Amino acid sequence: MNYPLTGACQCGSVRYQLLSEPKMIVACHCKECQKLSTSAFSITALVNTDQIRFQGEMKEWRRTADSGNINGAMFCPTCGNRIYHFNPDEPDTLKLKPASLTDTRLIKPVAHVWVSEKQDWYQIPEGVAVYDKQP
Ligand SMILES: [Zn+2]
Ligand SMILES: [Zn+2]
Repeated sequence: MNYPLTGACQCGSVRYQLLSEPKMIVACHCKECQKLSTSAFSITALVNTDQIRFQGEMKEWRRTADSGNINGAMFCPTCGNRIYHFNPDEPDTLKLKPASLTDTRLIKPVAHVWVSEKQDWYQIPEGVAVYDKQP
């Protein structure tokens, strides 16, 4: 892949440039991620905060996870597309929702977490790390 990669929300009001390869790509099957992705699981690219540049206004929503961690979510106020998540106690990393990338070939999860809550019909591919809950 040739960096930087570009991405945008569905309406195009929020745009970003990803400057280098994510640290890791993870699929999460927890019920919260099913809700936020409106799908069977969500995909997250763990990115160094200084390796991504955003343009456009975003809104923020926070919830407290079972672990006690704060989950911050940034989304486009016009189309509602989720752009990234973050933990305010770990400011060096953000959790990009990489389906908004222009070139989505990057999106191959190396780990699947919370498979204890996954949809029965979805089969985990071979060769990936699998965790019942959060590792
Ligand atoms: Zn938008
Ligand atoms: Zn999840």
